[in-house]
Amino acid sequence: MAAEPGLTAEQGVARDPSCLFCRIVAGEIPATRVVEDDIVLAIRDIAPRAPIHILVMPKAHIASAAELTDENAAVVGRIFAKAAGIARSEGIAEGGYRIVTNVGEWGGQTVDHLHFHLMGGRAFTWPPG
Ligand code: 5GP
Ligand code: ZN
Repeated sequence: MAAEPGLTAEQGVARDPSCLFCRIVAGEIPATRVVEDDIVLAIRDIAPRAPIHILVMPKAHIASAAELTDENAAVVGRIFAKAAGIARSEGIAEGGYRIVTNVGEWGGQTVDHLHFHLMGGRAFTWPPG
């Protein structure tokens, strides 16, 4: 399979069979899929903390934002472009929204597969708790 510019072949096929989100990407565990292409998957969070709460993730397994390198630039760019498009289609772009990724224990990360929370439909406080 040809890799996208900026992506290695490994990044296009990498998968951790014990990872929850890899299993969702593979269709082994059901999820409400919002947007999907060859690189990125967006699903509705199973326990939404806002009226709109969508997780945007690479299909390839990357453990967290702490693992990102220059090699992942295209993946991250794609994720943010998708998030902006989803925000528009979900009707939250005008009011504003939040995109956040949690890293590690103190960051509150519970699933070790990079994902960005796209949250909207209500006002958020700053800083987060
Ligand atoms: P984290 O805590 O790692 O920043 O975010 C993980 C998110 O994944 C949480 O918001 C949690 O509700 C969501 N989540 C956990 N398990 C599942 C699942 O099986 N399906 C979906 N759609 N979301 C999940
Ligand atoms: Zn994974």
